[in-house]
Amino acid sequence: MILPAPIQNLINALSRLPGIGPKTASRLTFFLLNAPEDLAGDLAEALQTLKTGTRRCSVCFNITNAGQELCEICASSERDGKMICVVEEPLDVLAMERIGSYQGHYHVLNGALSPIEGIGPDDLTIRELVERVRAGGVEEVILATNPSLEGDATAMYLGRQLTGLGVRVTRLARGLPVGGDLEYADQSTLLRALSGRQDMG
Ligand SMILES: [Zn+2]
Repeated sequence: MILPAPIQNLINALSRLPGIGPKTASRLTFFLLNAPEDLAGDLAEALQTLKTGTRRCSVCFNITNAGQELCEICASSERDGKMICVVEEPLDVLAMERIGSYQGHYHVLNGALSPIEGIGPDDLTIRELVERVRAGGVEEVILATNPSLEGDATAMYLGRQLTGLGVRVTRLARGLPVGGDLEYADQSTLLRALSGRQDMG
């Protein structure tokens, strides 16, 4: 059976999303086809503004509103700029914020080093992190990359880049599920990992 192009187009587009195969994509497409008009409309509008309505913070590379140079955290006078917590993705910032006890700033790397996937230091915001530390005023950098092979390798690399800059460099304590993602860690585990963080090197 040949499907009308509008249906096939949406199935194709949805199939490109992570974790969604052709079957799920078809189910979602037909669900939307039969759903009330406003659902498809709201979804289309949300997708359209997803990119145009957001940008990266020019200091920490977290996601922020399109009109803002700085994210809420960098712009806040309540936050402690002497601490920088380095994470892989903006979702990891949310995970750290959920535990509610970290008052410092962040730095979002946009991924982790992965020779297999061809991701090297220049593909991440490592140079910008080193520049931030060099600019002064930072006392501690907490490496909170994921407890995975890539996350550990990235932390090791960052540890070396930051030595000699007169800053304390720590790594989140073990206890996070190995191979897991920071964003999926529960709050108490993440809080323990943060309070038990250890000096690198
Ligand atoms: Zn920021």
